[in-house]
Amino acid sequence: MNNPAPKLSPEQYEQNFAELHPPFTPNSAVAEANRCLYCFDSPCMKACPTHIDISTFIKKIATGNLKGSAKTIFESNWVALTCAKACPVDVLCEGACVYNERGEEPIQIGRLQRFAIDTYFERGMPQLFTPAPKNGKSVGIIGAGPAGLACGAELALMGYEVVIYEGKPKPGGLDTWGIAPYKMTQQDSLNEVKLIESFGVKIKTGVKIGHDISIEALSKNHDAVFIGVGLAVPAALRIPGEELDGVFNALEFIERVTTRKWKSVDVGKRVAVVGAGNTAIDAVTEAKRLGAEQVMILYRRSRGEMSAYDFEYELAKSDGVVFHFQTAPKRIVGTKHVEAIECVKMQLGKPDGKGKRPAEPVPGSEFQIPVDMVILSVGQQTDQTFLSQIPNLQIQNGRVVVNHETFQTSNEKFFAGGDCINGGKEVVNAAADGKRAAHGIDKYITSRR
Ligand SMILES: Cc1cc2nc3c(=O)[nH]c(=O)nc-3n(C[C@H](O)[C@H](O)[C@H](O)COP(=O)(O)OP(=O)(O)OC[C@H]3O[C@@H](n4cnc5c(N)ncnc54)[C@H](O)[C@@H]3O)c2cc1C
Repeated sequence: MNNPAPKLSPEQYEQNFAELHPPFTPNSAVAEANRCLYCFDSPCMKACPTHIDISTFIKKIATGNLKGSAKTIFESNWVALTCAKACPVDVLCEGACVYNERGEEPIQIGRLQRFAIDTYFERGMPQLFTPAPKNGKSVGIIGAGPAGLACGAELALMGYEVVIYEGKPKPGGLDTWGIAPYKMTQQDSLNEVKLIESFGVKIKTGVKIGHDISIEALSKNHDAVFIGVGLAVPAALRIPGEELDGVFNALEFIERVTTRKWKSVDVGKRVAVVGAGNTAIDAVTEAKRLGAEQVMILYRRSRGEMSAYDFEYELAKSDGVVFHFQTAPKRIVGTKHVEAIECVKMQLGKPDGKGKRPAEPVPGSEFQIPVDMVILSVGQQTDQTFLSQIPNLQIQNGRVVVNHETFQTSNEKFFAGGDCINGGKEVVNAAADGKRAAHGIDKYITSRR
């Protein structure tokens, strides 16, 4: 990189990446648990895609039954620590808390869930679940992200032999490789993996299906297959200059930050991130926390059309991120290294047939912003080359098509869930899909006996 930001001291990095929401002490957890009204209709439970019995687990914290509390949580969600720390609770469980209607602070459900699960892992994972005796059937799972892990845990407890094949060197999917280090650590995700492995689930890392093992061999070796491959391919912006030194894909940059080897991650003094989703916000805040002096978001549409959550936007602003709305990059400028990014201002055009006003470039409004690093974050897509190897698999708008009751695909032996079917939502949606798909798989295999 041409103009790297100076490295920080180890203490400074630790401070910059310190947890956003520190844990409760035992006393504060009990006090918060006692605020819960245990509503009869549990709007929080309905708002959670995994439908955790929230008032029951909170009640158990209030009465000191932390093991029971963890059990209640895991019964619905196998990646409950990740969700406790990384879920957008403001728009899910906490957003539905009745205290909001009274103008009072909602119950801190995420932090209470974290308290129960942290304690469970700190106490050495006492046994909560006993797998059923082996039923002689086997399921292969592609991808050890939250969808694959949840599916595997549930099937192993039902007595299935489960093998998860994971291309990366460590399991966990984006829980391990994507979520911002000021929300959770890789170790949190690996603790969840350890719990799932304790049910007898085998995880083979460094094995890419379609490359190291063919789809045909996988299908032959198992009675059913679950596809939990997420969105493996970054969408391309396709502007000149993307090949220059100093241009990165957001996930490749974020993945290096999650290892917490801060000093090994170079960051420019002036960083532009293209895109305005949650991944773009993570990339820009992480660049700032690594020591970049000027950080900015370039987004072709308006603030109102940004897909990032409000709290992520506020976090980025409080970190000093400058937002350039209605600004579209046209080319990245430089000879070998990035030197600037050329943009054009955008405006809303005439309404189309559906009344939507497309964003259009303002003629002659081109301008350049000097930058040392560009991070591209314009979305992720499913890996079509991989998916096309699965016979008769129906894909629509880049997503694997499933029956939303059973999660079965158009190839009856293959089931799917998580980002590869929803186009990219949250960990909690992937965890819910994986668990429900396990029951779809069980029904399919049982019906063939
Ligand atoms: C940068 C970033 C930050 C995020 N932050 C949050 C957050 O704070 N909170 C939140 O709730 N959600 C967050 N999300 C979204 C969340 O991480 C995803 O919705 C969730 O991880 C999807 O789970 P999944 O199991 O479908 O896929 P993934 O987590 O992507 O896992 C898929 C796994 O499959 C593996 N794989 C793919 N192809 C193959 C193959 N052919 N063979 C073997 N293995 C394969 C991959 O290596 C990967 O490990 C974030 C996403 C990103 C990109």
